[in-house]
Amino acid sequence: MAFRAVHAQWGTVFAHLPDLGCGRAWDQVRKVRPPAPLTCDECRHPMHAKRSPGGLQFFAHAPGARNARSPGRPWRTTC
Ligand SMILES: [Zn+2]
Repeated sequence: MAFRAVHAQWGTVFAHLPDLGCGRAWDQVRKVRPPAPLTCDECRHPMHAKRSPGGLQFFAHAPGARNARSPGRPWRTTC
């Protein structure tokens, strides 16, 4: 879980800010088609915007990712 990601056009976005820190709305990155071009600011892996059952907004690494340092091993979201 992360509260920060990098949007290809808008730059860094913050899940915990009402305007994502760039004057945009959460609905512009969550459940949009095509998916918002979000990547992790640390490992550059694609990320998805999510919302927990409790209403917490956050970013999560896309499923199916592999750890570049350990190919074949399931991704571990350490960043
Ligand atoms: Zn990452």
